[in-house]
Amino acid sequence: MRKQLELLWEIQNIDLELKGIREERDRYPQEIKKLDEKQKIEKEKIQKEKEKIESLEKTRRQKEGHLNLEQEKIKRTEGRMFEVKTNKEYKALLSEIDAIKEANSRMEEEVLQVLDEIDELKKDLSKREKEAGVSVEKIETERKKLQEKMAHDDQAWNEQMERREVLIQQIDPKLFKLYNTLREKRQEMGVVSVKNETCQGCFVNIPPQMFIEVQKNNTLIRCPNCNRILYWDGDRNIK
Ligand SMILES: [Zn+2]
Repeated sequence: MRKQLELLWEIQNIDLELKGIREERDRYPQEIKKLDEKQKIEKEKIQKEKEKIESLEKTRRQKEGHLNLEQEKIKRTEGRMFEVKTNKEYKALLSEIDAIKEANSRMEEEVLQVLDEIDELKKDLSKREKEAGVSVEKIETERKKLQEKMAHDDQAWNEQMERREVLIQQIDPKLFKLYNTLREKRQEMGVVSVKNETCQGCFVNIPPQMFIEVQKNNTLIRCPNCNRILYWDGDRNIK
């Protein structure tokens, strides 16, 4: 019986490890999704800034185009000066030119302002791009770590499954069946250790005499409270 209990104990530990791997595997897709979202947000931030710069460049071009047209207008008006015949006409032309020039200098001011704004945004953008580069790199590192962990888990899974197969060949089928039934009913734990006269499955005390018997690992003893098979895990149990 001792050998059988030892086998069962090893199977139980393997099963718990497999359970852990299964839970981790369920979490991976979510973690990958989180990383993808983070990356997307970084890229969108950069994209928005670029769009803003583009729109300002467009405004600048429009204003400059307008300025050029107005300059042409001044030249044309100045050309007409030679054709005027009266002083009154001459004065009228002069004031027309002045008005255009005034409007133009305002427009030039505006162009300069837009240029300043573009400069600021570009500085901001290159800073942001650097920052985004760093965080994208970090995200990639996390992704790699996760992939390595997944590969490691796959390997551990296969190794444990193989070992489990070997153990199952050696265990008494009736005992294994009991273990499986208990495992299904009791949160995947069919066999548990005992520590300080307490069942480590349900944490209820067992009678002192039973505790003595459990420590021998000679007979199949089950917890009077939760029905799980009890196992003495040696001194490792005493901390
Ligand atoms: Zn119990």
